[in-house]
Amino acid sequence: MNAYVQQVIENVKAKHASEPEFCQTVEEVLSSLSPVMDKHPEYEKVDLLNRIVEPERMFTFRVVWQDDNGNYHTNTGYRFQFNGAIGPYKGGLRFQKNVNPSIIKFLGFEQIFKNALTGLPIGGGKGGADFDPTGKSDAEIMRFCQSFMTALYRFIGPDVDVPAGDMGVGGREIGYLFGQYRRLKGVWENGVLTGKGQTYGGSVIRPEATGYGAVYYLNEVLKHENDTIVGKTIACSGFGNVTWGICKKAMQLGAKVVTLSGPDGYIYDPDGVATEEKVNYLLEMRASNRNRVQDYSDKFGCEFYPKEKPWGRKVDIIMPSAMQNDVRMDSAEKIAANHIKYYIEVANMPTTNDALDFLRHQEGMIVAPSKAVNAGGVGVSALEMAQNSERLVWTPDEVDAQLHHMMENIHRVSAEAAEEYGLGYDLVAGANIAGFKKVATAMYEQGVF
Ligand code: GLU
Repeated sequence: MNAYVQQVIENVKAKHASEPEFCQTVEEVLSSLSPVMDKHPEYEKVDLLNRIVEPERMFTFRVVWQDDNGNYHTNTGYRFQFNGAIGPYKGGLRFQKNVNPSIIKFLGFEQIFKNALTGLPIGGGKGGADFDPTGKSDAEIMRFCQSFMTALYRFIGPDVDVPAGDMGVGGREIGYLFGQYRRLKGVWENGVLTGKGQTYGGSVIRPEATGYGAVYYLNEVLKHENDTIVGKTIACSGFGNVTWGICKKAMQLGAKVVTLSGPDGYIYDPDGVATEEKVNYLLEMRASNRNRVQDYSDKFGCEFYPKEKPWGRKVDIIMPSAMQNDVRMDSAEKIAANHIKYYIEVANMPTTNDALDFLRHQEGMIVAPSKAVNAGGVGVSALEMAQNSERLVWTPDEVDAQLHHMMENIHRVSAEAAEEYGLGYDLVAGANIAGFKKVATAMYEQGVF
């Protein structure tokens, strides 16, 4: 490995020992960059790698809110503005009990390269709070969002930093956040947030975009292998917004998702989550705030496996779409033993580094990285920003065509970047290299800071 790359990875591990997820993503991304750094010694001269792993700005803030019984609760809010070299900071807000600096930092770091891959002018950022939406009433969610935005509004803006949704933050939360921003600033700046409702500047297809984009990307991989999506079975995890979009697009294209998972276990539906009724039921499950996938098997009468993961299932395609570190070594071994050809990451960093390394070395297996596969979500967010600044509304066909084109492009530039460095069809290294090259060029040309 390139000595400078090695040294920066070691620096990060020593300095951020208490942030395992952040160290994990830094190691994953930087270890792809050896051949790039060999070819570009000028980057080392300006210490570009130590700069790129250091957020431009990060802060926490106090969020106090009152529950329906009149009791007060205090949470920690976060916003990490990681890299603004190619555009305003852009990335979601995650509301989940386990949110901590390491999680927000790993997500923010991934976001830099993902956003660059979209080909659109957006920098990398991420935020959220250690607030648990499970079991909260609508009024409690609203009060939390209003308090959160009251603390954050002076540090964001359409040309500064544009938050969006992530786990625990969907259309409802974005609505409350935007309402409070508008109330506090007294201006119509709807480009400050994406994932909005369609009556006030939200883009059509944004809710579906991450899942649709993932299936478009998968389709490019299948084309590359002279294979077809028709008739394929897919194992997914999660049952939220992203998995919903995958089920919907897979159904349209003639494939079927046969597993879903939640914190309680997983379901196996051999007929597929492939009817309008089933796909729509995922939305109900999410809106109920119960966070239970067993509700699906109760309703549709299929098998439920408590406390298990779906990775031992023999299917054609695996798409982990729930959360980080969902696939560890034990699951990776089962996937390899089943000779599954397509391992398509969807959630951010769903695979531990050892499991990812193991899968990438399986003969005949194709591994696609989440920062490319799930980039359609933030990509359509960038299209939402474009519509907001133009004061225009694009049609579903226009947005879908752009999303489709974007995903083809992401697959192509990743494959080309890997090819350029003699790595063959390595989509993981290719995505890291292609995303990095754009941001590194911008940082280099803007001088040292
Ligand atoms: N949270 C999503 C992501 O990880 C969406 C971000 C956005 O739309 O800004 O990319």
